[in-house]
Amino acid sequence: MTAGPFDLSGRVAVVTGANTGIGRGIALALAQAGADVALVGRSRAEETAAEVAALGRRTALIDADLSTIAPLESVIGRTLEELAALDILVNNAGIIRRADAVDFTEADWDAVIDTNLKSLFFLCQAAGRHMLAQGRGKIVNIASLLSFQGGIRVPSYTASKSGVAGLTRLLANEWAGRGVNVNAIAPGYFRTELTSPIWRDDPARSAEIIGRLPAGRWGEPSDLAGATVFLASAASDYVHGIVLPVDGGWLAR
Ligand code: NAP
Repeated sequence: MTAGPFDLSGRVAVVTGANTGIGRGIALALAQAGADVALVGRSRAEETAAEVAALGRRTALIDADLSTIAPLESVIGRTLEELAALDILVNNAGIIRRADAVDFTEADWDAVIDTNLKSLFFLCQAAGRHMLAQGRGKIVNIASLLSFQGGIRVPSYTASKSGVAGLTRLLANEWAGRGVNVNAIAPGYFRTELTSPIWRDDPARSAEIIGRLPAGRWGEPSDLAGATVFLASAASDYVHGIVLPVDGGWLAR
């Protein structure tokens, strides 16, 4: 029997920020589709690793603080050592800092840009070198609605996620003809730690969001499974440089 276009059996994926939230959902989706998964982050993704193992896939737990680019080469090296391949990279780790633009600090600017944009680019570069040499690879960057919209009180986050959309297109332009797909997913409003100041602590704002969402509810990490597997698999071989919204229809309003 031949493998279907969404089958990831025998593939090795790296997922950053895989201990929780969207990254955990993405790691499980890739494992369900057949991939072995390296779980990268500053908090050990023990629970995600147990769930991936329960699906019969191999995992590697790789400690890395992505607020600097220092660990990036070793993230790729460790993945190759422990799982013997690298086919898919999902750049998911990210942070947000909230303050009015007039009060926003340099520290909050640098922290978000360094993690969400600088480390993302240099991890694409480190993985890309390996993928270009093997003539095959899939990179999925996690963007945001703020890759399309301005947002409010999150200047460094908006700049970082708009930058992620631009870098995704740039890398696709350079690598599409060499067998490497670079694309992004833009999640809408997903219920995770990152958005807990809204869904947990601000019921009025949460109700406003639900009211504007055509789908009428917040997203759950499992809602990203299909888009992730699509962009990580042969099904998307002719798809390059897109930022795919998975947003319950938010951008359609
Ligand atoms: P989350 O639950 O807060 O998860 C963020 C992940 O990034 C965690 O694993 C976190 O690790 C990791 N991380 C943060 N800084 C790191 C660092 N310096 N080094 C290594 N790992 C680091 O938030 P989430 O909602 O799942 O966010 C995942 C991605 O989706 C982010 O890029 C975010 O911008 C994006 N996104 C989220 C939404 C949403 O509605 N939730 C919407 C659009 C885009 P720790 O647990 O150690 O902090």
